[in-house]
Amino acid sequence: MTVQEATYYHLNQLRTIYADSEASQITDWVMEKITGSMKTERMLYKNEPLSDKEETLIKEYTERLLQHEPVQYVLNESWFCGIKFYVDKNVLIPRPETEELVGWIVNEYKVRDKELKIIDIGTGSGCIPISLKRKLTAAEVWSCDISTGAIEVAKKNAASANTTVNFMELDFLNKAERDKLPAFDIIVSNPPYIPEKDKAQMNPNVLNYEPGTALFVPDNDALIFYAAIADFGKLHLKENGNIFFEIHEDLGKAVVELLQSKGYTAELKKDMQQKDRMVKSGLV
Ligand code: GLN
Repeated sequence: MTVQEATYYHLNQLRTIYADSEASQITDWVMEKITGSMKTERMLYKNEPLSDKEETLIKEYTERLLQHEPVQYVLNESWFCGIKFYVDKNVLIPRPETEELVGWIVNEYKVRDKELKIIDIGTGSGCIPISLKRKLTAAEVWSCDISTGAIEVAKKNAASANTTVNFMELDFLNKAERDKLPAFDIIVSNPPYIPEKDKAQMNPNVLNYEPGTALFVPDNDALIFYAAIADFGKLHLKENGNIFFEIHEDLGKAVVELLQSKGYTAELKKDMQQKDRMVKSGLV
């Protein structure tokens, strides 16, 4: 099989489940991973045969992608804030909306990152604390998650990005556990926020592959993490400290009301899709 034949084989298979543009993007990513060359370079040797190993890989990747497995898990990589992260089924695939949340924090604090103490709650791949530490280099960055597998992935990512982050495995909903943490200037979180009832409308690539604990909350208690983090902030937010949240696009008003009822200010911000997606909060 030549490089060109492999590309068409893969693309045509993917077109059976993905729109053309997405199928092309995924094919390009897969071919780049397999050959180690970018598209323009691959054009130069499109008639060269793939090695046996490369041919086996493309077949394996195609099979997995046809089962709706996200390409990021198939290739074990995902880009976030210009950094390549290792990802697997232990962690959520980092989303562009979350890059906007990181951007908001960096913009607000870049001229005064000295002696900032930051914690990311529910860290998954570690995309938030690692990107923050890369931009706010003088800050002391902490991070926690309930999942042992996620903490392992996040540590691996911090090491390959050459950043120092203090990782802790803990169940944040357990008050006794979270209260062992110190005080912070910035608390950030993209917590699980999808009500279980929304499962019915979700794509199989998310539902069958991404970790449910990172995504879902009970229908009758969808803001459980926001409430716990607000309670934590009362004791663990330093003076003039701020909480930054990613939120469900339909729950902006509900999150703002919850925060105000607990004595916080709350500023909503839309993402690039014009959806309510982030909140900045502080004690009144
Ligand atoms: N902090 C990680 C992210 O934003 C994980 C979030 C989660 O698992 N809910 O991608």
